[in-house]
Amino acid sequence: MFDSITGSIKNAVNKIRHKDDVASLKKAIVELKKSLLKADVHHKTTKELITAIELETKRVGIGQDSFINALKLELTKVLTTEGNQGFVYSNTPPTTILMTGLQGSGKTTTTGKLANYLKQRNKKVLVAAGDLQRLAAVEQLKQIAAQVEVDIYFDDNQTDPIAIAKAAQEKAIKEHYDVLLVDTAGRLAIDEELMTQLKNVRDAIKVDEIFYVADSLTGHDATKTASSFKEQIGIDGVILSKYDGDTKGGVALSIASQVGVPLRFIGIGEKMPDLEVFIPDRIVSRLLGLGDIEGLAEKTSAVIDEKKAKAVAKKIKKGEFNFNDFLDQLAMMSKLGSMKSIIGMIPGLSQMAGPLKDMDFENSDEIKRIKALIGSMTEKERLQPSLINPSRKKRIAKGSGLSEVQINKILKQFKNASKMAKKLSSKGGMKGLQNMMS
Ligand code: GDP
Repeated sequence: MFDSITGSIKNAVNKIRHKDDVASLKKAIVELKKSLLKADVHHKTTKELITAIELETKRVGIGQDSFINALKLELTKVLTTEGNQGFVYSNTPPTTILMTGLQGSGKTTTTGKLANYLKQRNKKVLVAAGDLQRLAAVEQLKQIAAQVEVDIYFDDNQTDPIAIAKAAQEKAIKEHYDVLLVDTAGRLAIDEELMTQLKNVRDAIKVDEIFYVADSLTGHDATKTASSFKEQIGIDGVILSKYDGDTKGGVALSIASQVGVPLRFIGIGEKMPDLEVFIPDRIVSRLLGLGDIEGLAEKTSAVIDEKKAKAVAKKIKKGEFNFNDFLDQLAMMSKLGSMKSIIGMIPGLSQMAGPLKDMDFENSDEIKRIKALIGSMTEKERLQPSLINPSRKKRIAKGSGLSEVQINKILKQFKNASKMAKKLSSKGGMKGLQNMMS
């Protein structure tokens, strides 16, 4: 995420050599202008930004710190548009949101992510399969709804999206849903027919807000299409999808400044938990390579069950961590979303992490093997791995398709890891680790 803009902003900062050195500030500004334009920031936004940053740096007194602070201040200003942040609930539920966007933008996936986000916050959510344009969209939404365990309204015999929206809203009202998310048709490009259809759906039901899903990877086009949607059907918020793949990061600045509609969420991976509320100063912090610890804490607190975490910590201390606990921890990790998004939140790690960034933890061969192994264990064996004797090992090997050598290796690793965790969690554990490292 943002690797290129973060790097080039650093270069700009490094141009400033001495305090009150006007010439070096000029050089930094030129460098900054280049990096913003390269990052797909609209030329008007770039101009406004560099003017403001230069003025602010001079006002405070030229230096690297004041330049960085001016950057933070002005970038945050640009990203802060008037209007709502995150998700806003209507006073008359169900809060109904139309999910709009071009085909391939990530609209259907984002509908699922938003449903998941709301479900995690204890809301009763209904999604409506109203994208009758793209052949597989209804099927895709069915799968996603099942995955995140929210209800879905669909009608395989219906060809009219208005009828789907109306019936879904009736169901949502009758069955007291908190939120209804209506997926709508997309097109490869904006056309009359699409806009008319969206207007008709919008006017046929009570709609609280219209979200536009913009694909960050389309750069300047994302800004243009968001503007068209705003003019033609009126949008209340933009969700930037695929922000994880966008190393440039400037599209958020362009949309905020040129479209004038608040960015509400960002999509930061293909998985269902990979959606975050868009909070300007946190994005700026990541753009500058400073991480987002607050965001990380929020993310983990939504996913981690504190009671369970304490119980596991106790078990680790006593050396009783077992394979069931391990599966629980894995499930929790997968709720956190992709590794890339987590790494981007830890200051400095993004530059250091290298290949770790692209690691798909859940689908790695190692984790698959461990899951197969645990799947073939009895409940007793999971709770007490020391029970596993040679004859049990043979049975597990048969069931899991692993060789006994592989099983021995995993069991040994597990044992060592439990021992290490026990040591670290005991008093003076960290000291012990430090000694070991040194
Ligand atoms: P739709 O035609 O707009 O409904 O598009 P889809 O929801 O089918 O998404 C198109 C592709 O983009 C799919 O392969 C998604 O997995 C992928 N996608 C959606 N959002 C994100 C995101 O935030 N990050 C990444 N990396 N991929 C995404």
